[in-house]
Amino acid sequence: MNLDNLLKYQEADLACKKLLDEIRGNSDYREMKKFKNEFNAAKQKVSESETLAGTVLSAYNSANEYLDKNSARAEELCALLEKDNLSEDEEKAAVSELESLRVAFAEWEKKAAQLKSNADKALMEYSGAQKSGKSARDSYASAKENYEKFKASKEDELQKLKSRRDTLEAGVEPELLEVYKSLTAENKYPAFVPALGDENSPVCSGCGMMLADTGKNDLKNKGYCRCETCRKIIYKP
Ligand SMILES: [Zn+2]
Repeated sequence: MNLDNLLKYQEADLACKKLLDEIRGNSDYREMKKFKNEFNAAKQKVSESETLAGTVLSAYNSANEYLDKNSARAEELCALLEKDNLSEDEEKAAVSELESLRVAFAEWEKKAAQLKSNADKALMEYSGAQKSGKSARDSYASAKENYEKFKASKEDELQKLKSRRDTLEAGVEPELLEVYKSLTAENKYPAFVPALGDENSPVCSGCGMMLADTGKNDLKNKGYCRCETCRKIIYKP
C-alpha cells in the first residue's frame, strides 16, 4: 500500500482547492451573486405589480359598469318624479329607491378612490422595480466583467495545479481514492490525516478522538485506518 502517493495527491488537491477557494471568494464574484439575487427580486416585484395592476383594472371596470347601470336607473326615476299623475305610494317608492342609489353612489366613490390609490401604488412599485432591476443588471454585468478578468488571470496557474493533481491521482489506489473523494465531497479537508500520540493510544488528528482497537490494529498492520468518529483516513506518520 503506497500511502505516499495519496499524501502527494492530497497536497496537490489542497493546492487546487486553495486557489479555487480564492477564485470563488473573490469580492466581484460575491457581488455578482448579490446583484443576481437583487435582479431576481426586482423581476418578481415587476411581475407582482403587473398582477396587482390587472386586478385593480378589472375591479375598476366592474365598478364602472355598476355606475352606468345605476345612473341610467336614477335618470328614469327622476323622469318619473317629474310626472304629475304619480300616486303618493309611487312617489314614495321612487324617492326611496333614489335614496338607496345615492347611498350606493357614495359607496362607489369610496371604492373608486381606493382603486385609484391601489393603481397608483402598483404603478409606483412597477416603475421602482423596473429601475432597481435595471440597476442590479448593470451592476451584475460590471462585477461579472471584473470577475472574469480575475478568473482569467488565475487560469494558467489553476490548469497547472489541476494537471499536477490529475497526474498524481493515477498513482493512488482506487479504493483509497474513492474514500478520499467521498470525504472531500462532504468538504472534509484534509481527508487524509496523521495519527497523533504513541502507538498504543493513537489519536485522530482530524477530530482528536482516540482510536478503538480495530482502528489501532489496522493502523499497525495496514499503515492506515478510518476514524470511527470523523471517518477520515488516518495514517501512521
Ligand atoms: Zn477523527
